Amino acid sequence: MSILTLARPAAQSDARPAPLLQVSDVGIDYPTRDGALTAVDDVSFDLHAGERLVLIGPSGSGKSTLLRAIGGFLAPSSGAILIDGAPITRPAPDRMTVFQEFDQLLPWRTALGNVRYALERGRKFSRTQAEHEAREWLIRVGLSRFLDAYPHTLSGGMKQRVAIARAFALQPRLLLMDEPFAALDALTRRQMQDELLTLSEETGSTVLFVTHGIDEAIVVGTRILALTAHPGRLAASFRVSAEDRARGSAAFAELERRIQQSVFDGATGNA
Ligand code: ADP
Ligand code: MG
Repeated sequence: MSILTLARPAAQSDARPAPLLQVSDVGIDYPTRDGALTAVDDVSFDLHAGERLVLIGPSGSGKSTLLRAIGGFLAPSSGAILIDGAPITRPAPDRMTVFQEFDQLLPWRTALGNVRYALERGRKFSRTQAEHEAREWLIRVGLSRFLDAYPHTLSGGMKQRVAIARAFALQPRLLLMDEPFAALDALTRRQMQDELLTLSEETGSTVLFVTHGIDEAIVVGTRILALTAHPGRLAASFRVSAEDRARGSAAFAELERRIQQSVFDGATGNA
């Protein structure tokens, strides 16, 4: 690239900024003994910085497969996945994933040790800064009394809080969350949904969240994409307003009904 190219002012200053993530015509097949199994079929969407996009779909609709490809753990069979305009080829600290499983922490490190270790490895922080940041984030997710606790002594909800603190602390461009609350009891799940919402709004994080729960999608997302059952294809897209998000409101119930219809009857969305 020449100096002239570098010096040229950005051409799109008055247009909408380019999407952070672009998923274009993505298909993902798994090789099986009976031939290729199509898990994701021709899915396209954009994700802009600051959005919280929820992918919702029944079990087996390819949600985890798509998230793994965006994480860089799996290459798409067709189409392209771009972050900041460049193809994703491998996992990198600009994308952090929180999984459903409670065993994503290093068992031989404390809560503080787990977060600190990730920060030190990310090399953005010095040792002292890493320690400080790790403490701050764990306190923020309500674990001030458990900094020195080992994972096996923590409840499922607490372990997920450590994983969430670790993901936020690393300040990725994109937070990927694959049903992070699915294995929690209903009360804890609800509490964690509210906490995630607060944290993401305070930090302005960009989130791609996967769930099969319609109510969870409405609480967490600013936009929802519904996938059809196997193979996963986009069925409908919904925008979620602050009013829609209020649990128990008429707007919430109406949106819930519309999403349900799109997943089961193929009706279209509101966006
Ligand atoms: P979801 O997360 O929406 O439940 P998945 O992405 O896990 O869906 O799976 C989509 C489809 O791909 C399912 O039919 C599943 O059985 C299949 N699948 C997932 N992982 C593999 C794999 N490693 N090998 C073969 N098939 C797989
Ligand atoms: Mg899954």
